[in-house]
Amino acid sequence: MPEMSVADEAELYLKTVADPGAEPGLYECLACFVSRRVEAVGCDRTRLWTQWFRDIKSPTATALEERLLKIGVYCDCDLARNGYRMSRHLLVRDLMTDELSLPDELPDCAGVRRTSTKPCDNWERKPLSEWEPGPH
Ligand SMILES: [Zn+2]
Ligand SMILES: [Zn+2]
Repeated sequence: MPEMSVADEAELYLKTVADPGAEPGLYECLACFVSRRVEAVGCDRTRLWTQWFRDIKSPTATALEERLLKIGVYCDCDLARNGYRMSRHLLVRDLMTDELSLPDELPDCAGVRRTSTKPCDNWERKPLSEWEPGPH
């Protein structure tokens, strides 16, 4: 990841804290939080929201990023595309084609322990064999 200048970082920080939705909920999990933020502001090819979540909830979880890299998560939008996928029980079945697809809106987080960096029951690990290249 390229080093950010102090000015970039300050700007990003201001953008981050100015938005009331930018704080993870008390029991909100990493995957729900990051998906919610990517949906709201997009992915800037970094793991900004992942790191933000870690810093707020679980600053000692320093192995988190390494764990995510191992499961193919290189940026925030990768988390819900390559690291995890929505659990089957949340998918919506198309009555015409019988195919399962994602619900229109993100379901509420099922909740995790306050300092956990694991996803809630809404998510399951996606096998690396199904890794897909992202939009960037
Ligand atoms: Zn991304
Ligand atoms: Zn969740």
